[in-house]
Amino acid sequence: MKNAVPRITLITTGGTIAGLGELGFSTGYKAGQVGAEALLLGVPGLEGLAQVKVQSLFSIGSQNLTATHAVLLRQAILDALEDVNCDGVLVTHGTDTLEETAFFLHLTLPATGKPTMLTAAMRPASAASSDGAGNLRDALQSLKSLCHNRPKAGPSLWVLMASRLYGALEVSKRNALAPDAFHNQRHSAFLLDDHLEWISTPIEGEWTAGRFFESMETALKLWAADTESHTDNFDTLLPEIPVVVCHQDLNAQRIGRMLKPAPMGVVIAGVGHGAIPESLHGLVNTLLKAGCWIMRASRTPEGPVFVSGENPWNKQAFAGRMLAAGRLSPWQSRIALQLLLLELDQVIKS
Ligand code: ASP
Repeated sequence: MKNAVPRITLITTGGTIAGLGELGFSTGYKAGQVGAEALLLGVPGLEGLAQVKVQSLFSIGSQNLTATHAVLLRQAILDALEDVNCDGVLVTHGTDTLEETAFFLHLTLPATGKPTMLTAAMRPASAASSDGAGNLRDALQSLKSLCHNRPKAGPSLWVLMASRLYGALEVSKRNALAPDAFHNQRHSAFLLDDHLEWISTPIEGEWTAGRFFESMETALKLWAADTESHTDNFDTLLPEIPVVVCHQDLNAQRIGRMLKPAPMGVVIAGVGHGAIPESLHGLVNTLLKAGCWIMRASRTPEGPVFVSGENPWNKQAFAGRMLAAGRLSPWQSRIALQLLLLELDQVIKS
């Protein structure tokens, strides 16, 4: 499409961007109170940015999102992308777990070329320095740019926050209160007035856009065909993957009790380059022997975790089930392991 105003489906899920509290204050508000139409009223020059169709999906804080919400949101985006009258999708979301939703959608949505964007706010609509309307405007402006000049390759899932455009692997919340809560050196573009200044192509590595689209579709078909399952509740569609965060003086017995019976997979956020304290090695061996998959990540925000390094399981039996997270955060690792195990299960059963 050239020059025309893009047709954007706006899907709202709640979060601070739709939050309301005492007038003038940034904290002590309730998330998910303002409807999409009211949010759009605060966007100056909306008519020149987009023709917006609104879909209110949830009204909750992102800390309360479950697998069911993720699957329903994915489906809502898929339906919008399949509509020939839709040029792109914008999702409003809470900031707290936005990076998890972004990564899940990046891996499970098909590469249609139509841009999908998530945006959020750190201050509720009622705060003196509310950032929601500005982020909404910037997201619509960025979508317009992406609709007019589609990048030739690469992902089509983006996050817009405080004028910066992030790919799904780049985005992580780093500040609990500041409006530029996602600021880090790894962003793909910067929005300046009405155009995107591109800085780099988003990194993907092995986690390419749509990598698990087919597996998700197959899983959903099987789920729907299984009369025992509740088709509107997807909380057990993907395996439960607990995340264990390492620190000094770790109580391995307590963690062992929490991991009984052994789950299909566990993410261990080790220290530094994914080092796991020796006190936990016995439990790790027990889990591996029980058939559990482990992804070794790090609680340290920057720098990859490789298979080698501080990993004594390299050459041992069951080492094939000991994976390294690379550049994924522990929270991204959880989603990656869920989807890898879903795919593996389908390969075994086929
Ligand atoms: N708790 C809120 C949420 O994630 C925080 C926010 O949106 O900034 O939904």
